[in-house]
Amino acid sequence: MHRMEDLFDIEDRAAGMQNEMVRLRRDFHRHPELGFQENRTAAVIAAYLRGLGMEVHEGIGKTGVVGVLRGGAPGKTLMLRADMDALPIQERNDCTYRSVNPGVMHACGHDGHMAVLLGAAALMSEIRDRMKGRIKFVFQPAEEGSGGARHMIQDGVLKDPDVDAAFGMHLITALPCRTVGWGRGTIMAAMDSFTLRIKGRSGHSSMPEGGVDAIAASARIITALMSLNTVPGFSGRTLINIGTIKGGDASNVIAEKVELTGTVRNLITGNRAAMPAAMREVIDGVVREVGAACELDYQEGYPPVVNDDEMTDLLCRTASEMLGEGSLIELPPLMASEDMAFYLERVPGCYFFLGAGNPEKGLTSSLHSSLFDFDECILSTGAALFTRLAISFLGLDG
Ligand SMILES: [Zn+2]
Ligand SMILES: [Zn+2]
Repeated sequence: MHRMEDLFDIEDRAAGMQNEMVRLRRDFHRHPELGFQENRTAAVIAAYLRGLGMEVHEGIGKTGVVGVLRGGAPGKTLMLRADMDALPIQERNDCTYRSVNPGVMHACGHDGHMAVLLGAAALMSEIRDRMKGRIKFVFQPAEEGSGGARHMIQDGVLKDPDVDAAFGMHLITALPCRTVGWGRGTIMAAMDSFTLRIKGRSGHSSMPEGGVDAIAASARIITALMSLNTVPGFSGRTLINIGTIKGGDASNVIAEKVELTGTVRNLITGNRAAMPAAMREVIDGVVREVGAACELDYQEGYPPVVNDDEMTDLLCRTASEMLGEGSLIELPPLMASEDMAFYLERVPGCYFFLGAGNPEKGLTSSLHSSLFDFDECILSTGAALFTRLAISFLGLDG
């Protein structure tokens, strides 16, 4: 069991690291890179971890980096994960650390995630001799849609040493600083994507009887698909969205082809499994009636993020010891998705949110906004919380 004074000491040490983490965060922010292109980012991380005397593996899951810290006594292996990629957004903030890469921006706070995890790595390496077990510091590329987690798993990130538990964190400006948003079980939705290709028959627009109008068919298909969102049992747990629609060649020609793309989000595994068939049934009903053809190409994306009960309890206990019980905010499941899900399918763990908003400083823009920024005071909070989580999970020796 750890001594209480050790834990207070960790927050002091984290506060002492604050300037260093701000420097790292601003450096990442200034030089954002898109998924699987995080080469500069990876080099900065690898050099930093090597400077801490850690064993470092590069090129895991293409541009990912893993640092392994071995404690002074044997024990379990804990994985802590940060994502590395930025978004294809032109930054509109006017700050000294504004992005220098046109059209690319850290608008999802991943710059903060990396700085927090590097700060935590520095804190833990200071007390490594007294720590039990091992910690894998996992810096993962391409969270925003390309599933970098899957690539890191294929490259063995969960093996050798085998990971016993995994934690990950996302900054969120919707919650104030020094709060932790948490949830039990399924906390984020699975997300799949689809393409629909509707084929009719072209003809003169003055003679509708001579053709099959793919645009009219697509309108009916869209209405029918959207109505699935309100079916009892699906409502609030399943969400179909059509994001693009392309079709037709000229204003006076009956359209022959329409292509639609969209996403399906599910909080219930059974709903997810039932989705392709439910969509096909709705689509077939329309195309049979109008004489069109329609092909559904359904692609599985991220699984749901499912938190382990025991690891969720560990997070809540640790956060409330450090920040006070009032700092814990239980969140309803979100329809957003996260590729942290791939790790949590395989090992127990917990994904949580760290409050990073500050209305007094005007830091309230939402994630993925071109004006996104967060209160940097959370960097030391996050690093201390990860360190305390590691101590809670692995234990201190002596
Ligand atoms: Zn994002
Ligand atoms: Zn993100």
